[in-house]
Amino acid sequence: MPKSILIKNPFCCAPMNSDRPSNGRIKTFTGGYIYIENGIIKSIGKDSFDCKADIEIDASRMLVLPGFINTHHHLFQTLTRNIFSTQETPLFDWLLTNYEIWRELTAEGTYISAKLGIAELLKSGCTTTSDHLYLFPKSSNSHLIDEEIKAAKEMGIRFQPTRGSMSLGKSVGGLPPEDVIQSESEIMQDIKRLIKLYHNDSFGAMIRISLAPCSPFSVTPELMRETVQFSDEYNLQIHTHLAETLEEQEFCLKNYGIRPFELIKNFGWARANVWLAHAIYLNDEEINEIGDTGMGISHCPSSNMRLGSGIARIHEMIDAGANVSLAVDGSASNDSSNMLIELRNALLLSHLRSRENWLTVDDILWMATRGGAAVLGRDDIGQIAPGKCADINLISIDRLEYSGGQHDPLAAIIFSVSMNPVDWVIVNGKVVVAEGKLKDIEEPSLIQKHQRISNQMVKDAEQRTGKQLTRPRL
Ligand SMILES: [Zn+2]
Repeated sequence: MPKSILIKNPFCCAPMNSDRPSNGRIKTFTGGYIYIENGIIKSIGKDSFDCKADIEIDASRMLVLPGFINTHHHLFQTLTRNIFSTQETPLFDWLLTNYEIWRELTAEGTYISAKLGIAELLKSGCTTTSDHLYLFPKSSNSHLIDEEIKAAKEMGIRFQPTRGSMSLGKSVGGLPPEDVIQSESEIMQDIKRLIKLYHNDSFGAMIRISLAPCSPFSVTPELMRETVQFSDEYNLQIHTHLAETLEEQEFCLKNYGIRPFELIKNFGWARANVWLAHAIYLNDEEINEIGDTGMGISHCPSSNMRLGSGIARIHEMIDAGANVSLAVDGSASNDSSNMLIELRNALLLSHLRSRENWLTVDDILWMATRGGAAVLGRDDIGQIAPGKCADINLISIDRLEYSGGQHDPLAAIIFSVSMNPVDWVIVNGKVVVAEGKLKDIEEPSLIQKHQRISNQMVKDAEQRTGKQLTRPRL
């Protein structure tokens, strides 16, 4: 592995290495250099750098940014994108159809789907991802998180998987079928095993475990309480879906007599080491409480549009002091793992709200970098600063799509859509994407294996249920 990388003369670099000024605008610089050694950013200078490095990248026509951080995903769902029978359904119906296919998830499927989703993330400038794998079919090997970790290590992305879980089956009032849920003791046993095997809480960790019971309608109160207690013991971040749809709110009111946020508060979840995916249906009081406690939010605009869930009140959450990040969510509700598209959708979706709640380019870039780091409980990533991890992406501005917009390169990458997102991606001081191509990955064979597994899962589900899930041939 090359030990040093020199990024020379950037056209525009937004290091995100200081607090945002009061006017909210992100500071940038032009020219100079960024020098990386042994995975760490060693120095940033305004003048030229005299010494040689193992790899030198001419960034004179490039935008240089900290790698993006994706805080919520379900990588296994790359296997069930745009399934015909889920294309016109909101969350609960979408889940009920997908459970039938996800029951077929295997260890190999988990591994290959993680590789494919991570490839998409890397190619769109994402250097750290979380993942929320909550489905452990009884027919499958329960060591599925291990498969994802293996894939992440091979792909070179920084990975913060959450050990997801579902314990509230249909027979006791939950949404998921019994054969994809686990008992609390099985779940806690696997969590302990994973912590022992993989968890690293030191600076620059490439693998760090978090915990994530799935949602109010698929998890028992006991598991929620046990999770928060366990997180204290090991100093872990914890995560769940919350306030995603009105159906979920109705479920909570009907079954517990309280709103979703009140419910998790009762479980002891209103605290700084918690981050919530979606958080759409929150009132003013709840938003203020999230801000006061320093909780984190994963904003998933594509998924929220795709499932017709609603628009999260991100501007108010930022004002309240919450840590807000961006996330692609699962590839069955997006149906993509492209971080740059998520930046764009977050901006555009906010413009459907009243004018005072629009998000700016600066808000979006902050959410995708520093916001993501804060949500994952990290201060070693999300910025280009001496002593921080060398996670950087470089985007050429000389593209058809950006021409005419180069006067504001930060805005160009968000307002305009590039057909080939990024040029170089560095994770932990290692080049993983060079000149727009993934290093060491044969994309055609990965696609072939992935599609074969997807076809088989859908076919098996169709045979088992007797329902046509794919588009009927007319
Ligand atoms: Zn999700």
